[in-house]
This record gives sequence, structure tokens and C-alpha cells, in this order.
Amino acid sequence: MTEIKVAKFGGTSLANSNQFRKVGAVVEADKDRRYVIVSAPGKGHSDENKVTDLLYLCHAHINYSVPFDQVFDIISNRYLEIVNGLKIDLDIRVYLDEIKESISKGVSVDYLVSRGEYLNALIMAKFLNYDFIDAKEVICFDKSGSLDMVRTEEVLSKRLSKHNRAVIPGFYGSTLDGKIKTFSRGGSDITGAIVARVVQAEVYENWTDVSGFLMTDPRIVENPRPIEKITYRELRELSYMGASVLHEEAILPVRNVDIPINIRNTNEPDNPGTMINSVDDRKNDNIITGIAGKRDFTVIAVHKNHMNSEVGFIRKILLILEIHNITIEHVPSGIDTVSIVISNSQLDSKLDLIVEEIEKQCNPDSLNVYRNMALIATVGNNMAHTPGIAAKLFTALGNEGINIRMIDQGSSEINIITGVEDKDFEKAIKAIYNAFVGE
Ligand code: ADP
Ligand code: ASP
Ligand code: MG
Repeated sequence: MTEIKVAKFGGTSLANSNQFRKVGAVVEADKDRRYVIVSAPGKGHSDENKVTDLLYLCHAHINYSVPFDQVFDIISNRYLEIVNGLKIDLDIRVYLDEIKESISKGVSVDYLVSRGEYLNALIMAKFLNYDFIDAKEVICFDKSGSLDMVRTEEVLSKRLSKHNRAVIPGFYGSTLDGKIKTFSRGGSDITGAIVARVVQAEVYENWTDVSGFLMTDPRIVENPRPIEKITYRELRELSYMGASVLHEEAILPVRNVDIPINIRNTNEPDNPGTMINSVDDRKNDNIITGIAGKRDFTVIAVHKNHMNSEVGFIRKILLILEIHNITIEHVPSGIDTVSIVISNSQLDSKLDLIVEEIEKQCNPDSLNVYRNMALIATVGNNMAHTPGIAAKLFTALGNEGINIRMIDQGSSEINIITGVEDKDFEKAIKAIYNAFVGE
């Protein structure tokens, strides 16, 4: 390990010049913070929009041939405030004009939305007096639009060896033919993880607007308990299931080279935040580590007596879904039942056809479809050795009158997934939290 810290700052940490100053203080406080990854300006207050959202809106205007000047002006003003507030010598208007002009010539949505982080990185580099490295030159995507990790590692490490300190925009890179390509939303976390991996950082710091990972979404439970330490494995389960603090794909690049992730708060820099690593050396006996969830799933529950002795029964169902190009979220099964959990967005209008085909080809005793379901993951390493967790969880939900449509304990045993109706989502998370953590 080197004495290098990679620090990624999220949108709220960069919403305006005041936030930039806080970031400046954080970076200056530790000379090891040599590589800085930035997102686009986020919400400074609740009425403000994220610049990335405004850029998507801009592109939608262009698609419908509606004038986009007004939206573009709002974006421009955000950057002008930052540059003027910081009193740095950078003519950001030149870059804004360039972008505006390129729009009139026709640009891809990925190019346009990537400009949010591009401009922010230019400003941050100037402000910190760090070098600027354009992500399009160092983050490589393959033809199919997936990250090309092998080429990225090669190009990025070569480039970084020439820069002692640098700012790199998050969220995007480019394909071999030079076209800009973005990650999915929240993807600056991935850029930060890649940079941390390539420089073999001692830690990947992810600076945001909360003092670390909390046991559950603070928008659902008031003041949830902070998590001091968590393993990559638990975090991945929680991130995948909707704990939006960190992009779920940001874990893999650092996990297999054992670089810890530290979630920190730009507005409370003295708070140590959450430390994420591979070993579980926690001394506490908390049974659960965290709770997260996602809405808008459909569950197709198939029942057939002696299903288990019928060779290829589940495979037939999965094949039908494969033919319709549908990815599956979970497949919990019992002796005579199997439930297929699919995100609503995957199904579009295909559901009726799929149900018809399952009925025809598998001849089940019964088939029920539950729409608008939410999945809630209750995660904890200690769950694997503690009896009675499931019972406690179901009692908590039962006491609140919440119907459980599906349970999946998974093979990892560190995660119990419960399916409830969308309308009960928040109530269920609160009930589970209160049962395990106390009111
Ligand atoms: P950034 O702009 O820094 O990338 P994000 O908005 O992506 O920040 O992530 C931070 C937000 O994640 C928090 O403001 C909080 O509302 C939300 N969040 C959801 N689940 C959790 C959780 N378990 N712990 C902490 N924050 C959470
Ligand atoms: N600005 C991008 C988004 O809003 C990427 C990020 O914030 O990580 O999704
Ligand atoms: Mg984020």
C-alpha cells in the first residue's frame, strides 16, 4: 500500500462555492489526498436541482425540438456562482459556450450529461491547484458499453504516474472510437473506486452529506444509528438493495485488492464515518448491520405438488423468461412452490404473455401474480449464527398488520429478503428497525 488517499466528493459536497471551500479544507488537511474525483453540483437546498438532472432535461428539450436556453442558463449560473464565489481565475463561460455550441450541432445524451462533472473537475483542479485529467482519456469502455477494466488499468496507471496530484471527473469515460460513455446514475463512486485500485490507495474516501452509512435510510427512519464498521459483503447486499449512499458497482474494484472504503461527511469532517473492509473484527453483538429496500417488483408465485421431483420444472420457467430477455431478481423456492421476483421495469407489457406460457408449459396447480411489491433486505454477518432472527422479523411485521408475500433467506445467510406490498414499504422498514435496534 502506498501513502495515497483517493477522495471522491459527491454532488451535495459540490453544490456551490461554499461547499467547494469545505472540500478544499478537507483536501488540504491531509497531504495524502492526492487524487480527487468529483461529481456534478448536486442540490444545495431542497428547491435546487442536481445539475445532472438539468442536463438530462436539456437533452429532452433538444429531442423534442423545444428551446433549451432557459435550462442551460440555470446550469450556467450554477457554475458561474461557484467560480465567482471562489474568486478563481478561470473563464468558465468559454467552456459553457463551447458546450452550448456543440449542442446545436447535435450531441449524444452521454456527452451532454457528462459535462456536469467535466466542468466541476476543471474548477476543482484550478481551485486546489491540482492537475486536471479528463476521464475520457483514462476510463475506457468496450464496444458493448461496459467498462474495460484491463485497458483502463493500463491507461490510467500510466497517466497517473505522471501526475503527483490530480482531479478527475467522475461518472464517464469513452469508448475506443472516442465517444463519451457514462456509468449509470451515481457512477462517480465507480470512478473513485477504479482510481483507488489503480494507485493502490491506502483508503478510498467517499465524501458525501451523511456521516457514514446509517443502519437504514434516514429519509424513512429518523436518525438511524450510524454504522461504524461494515464488511464489503454486507455493504454490497445493502447497496444492491437500494441503500443509495454508494453505487453497488463501486465495491468490486476495491474489494479484491483489499482497499478499505471510508464514507465521510464533508459537512462534518471530524466524524470518522463508516469504515468498510473485508474482515469482521467488530466487538459488538449487533445481530443486524443494516436494512435497505427497493419498490416496484412483481412476484409470480407458482405452486405445484411434488414440483421438486419433476425434472427441469424451474428450468422451464426460467427459459420462458430468458426468451423474453428478462433478468430475474430472486428465485426463492420451497418444496412445492417457486416465486420469481422481477423488477416491474423489466416486464413492461410482457406479463400476460409470460403467465400464459408458464401455465401452458408447466401446468402448475396454481399461479398467483403479486404486482407492486417491495423487497426489503435485512443484512448482518451475525445473522448466520443466531437462531430466531426470521421469527423476530416476521413477528415485527405481523404486529404492524403487514402481509408478507415472500421470504428469501438466500444461501449467504447474511441476508433475509422479505417481499411486502409497495404501500407497506416504509412501515415495514420502520418495524424491522424498531424490532432489532429499539425505538
Ligand atoms: P452523493 O451526492 O454524495 O453521491 P448520495 O445522494 O448518492 O450522495 O448518497 C447520500 C444519501 O444517501 C444520503 O443523503 C441519504 O439520504 C441516502 N441514504 C440512503 N440510505 C442510506 C443509509 N443507509 N445511510 C446513509 N444514507 C443513506
Ligand atoms: N452526477 C451523476 C449523477 O447524478 C453521477 C454521480 O453523482 O455520481 O448520477
Ligand atoms: Mg452518490
